[in-house]
Amino acid sequence: MTQPLIGRHDPRGGIWSRVKDADGRIHDGAWRTAIATLQHVGIHAHCGGLLTPHEPDVQRHVTFYPAFCVQCGAEVMQRVAKPRKPKKGAKA
Ligand SMILES: [Zn+2]
Repeated sequence: MTQPLIGRHDPRGGIWSRVKDADGRIHDGAWRTAIATLQHVGIHAHCGGLLTPHEPDVQRHVTFYPAFCVQCGAEVMQRVAKPRKPKKGAKA
């Protein structure tokens, strides 16, 4: 990655678009890649510190993407609701 750590972010802070999809939701693959390659995923809006991504927590309908500010330690949680998709198989 040759992208600078700071540059393509919302000036108000937040998660960078490079880990989001076209709809502005967290892109699961990009998020996991960021974890694996030790990249930051955004800027903490409160203090301007870089956000370090952690493993997504998958619930039934929502996936939570936690990130921690390297500067103040605050947790910033992104949540993505799964789009409804047809059930596979016949598990009841
Ligand atoms: Zn912070």
